[in-house]
Amino acid sequence: MKFVENSSQAAAYLRQAVPMMVKYNIPPNPLNYALWYTYVSNRLPDLNSELDEALVTYGTCPMMISEQLFRDHMLRDELESAKDMQANLISLMNDLHHQADATARRTSSYSEVLQDSLDALNESDNERLPLESIIQNLALNTAAISAETRQFQLRIDEARAEIDALRAELVQSRHDARIDPLTSLFNRRVFDAEIEQLLGTADRPRLTLIMLDVDHFKAFNDLYGHLMGDKVLQYVGKLLKEQLQDPALPVRFGGEEFAVLIPNAGLEQCLDTAELLREKIQAIRIKLKKSGEVISSITASFGVAEYRDGDSIDDFIGRADQALYDAKEGGRNRVEAAG
Ligand code: GH3
Ligand code: MG
Ligand code: MG
Repeated sequence: MKFVENSSQAAAYLRQAVPMMVKYNIPPNPLNYALWYTYVSNRLPDLNSELDEALVTYGTCPMMISEQLFRDHMLRDELESAKDMQANLISLMNDLHHQADATARRTSSYSEVLQDSLDALNESDNERLPLESIIQNLALNTAAISAETRQFQLRIDEARAEIDALRAELVQSRHDARIDPLTSLFNRRVFDAEIEQLLGTADRPRLTLIMLDVDHFKAFNDLYGHLMGDKVLQYVGKLLKEQLQDPALPVRFGGEEFAVLIPNAGLEQCLDTAELLREKIQAIRIKLKKSGEVISSITASFGVAEYRDGDSIDDFIGRADQALYDAKEGGRNRVEAAG
């Protein structure tokens, strides 16, 4: 059991946790409450020091970090169940592998029996074994192999049912309303919550936003098909994940548009980051299986804005958007800074 406190102790933690959450502008959702309840209970010292570190860095604990802390410190036993699932799958595969192996061996000895019987039937009349004895031998071996394959078929049916159940379990555990299924990036909802939280803190960190939009993507879809278009979006998502480190938060903003929220960095540094991403996207090469053609025309345009005192969230996003629009107008495949 994770929480063993009686109700008066739990109420005491509540009285400590809530004012701290208010002070640091922590959204009072159940995940955060579990985190801060555990923080004030001092039960997991490692969690406390990591949370303290986030407060020093950001003046709050961004949702992305809260969720990571929650996963690392509070969901450990739940994560074990993913390991169990993997172990189940390995044992299932091993079992099937042995069965398939044994069945293959017996099937190959059955094939020898068939060949021997054929040879025996082809002998000249006076050297041939009596037909009764050939038939008897075939009947015995055929019964044995048919029992063997029936058993294998049963085992395969069982395995199929087990695999279906594991797949359903996996789909269930992977379903996450915050994650875009195509790119596995966080979605717009996470972006909105994060930006609101970061800008709502008293010690607001520096905050910069990169907006990027794939160029002429409609024409790309028309030329290569929607599935190939999806593949490009997946590539871009993977690239953003690989090139950006915490605390940068890349999200799929919608369609072929992505956003990266970067705390604790200024405009110049983020312009360099955007330029690097632009080069990496331009370097994407996709070889078409059918024709062998190599697609090398994928580019994106970028707008970068640093948050300014007095900006509303809409102003901030609007300035990055305007810079993105300028990059498009200026010829695409380029990075523009917000004025
Ligand atoms: P621009 O350079 O001005 O951005 O031109 P564009 O063609 O990229 O912009 P436009 O807004 O005209 O078209 C966006 C296209 O992106 C149209 C839409 O079908 C495509 N798109 C949006 N989401 C997806 C997706 O999930 N998969 C695929 N394959 N295409 C998508
Ligand atoms: Mg576009
Ligand atoms: Mg667009």
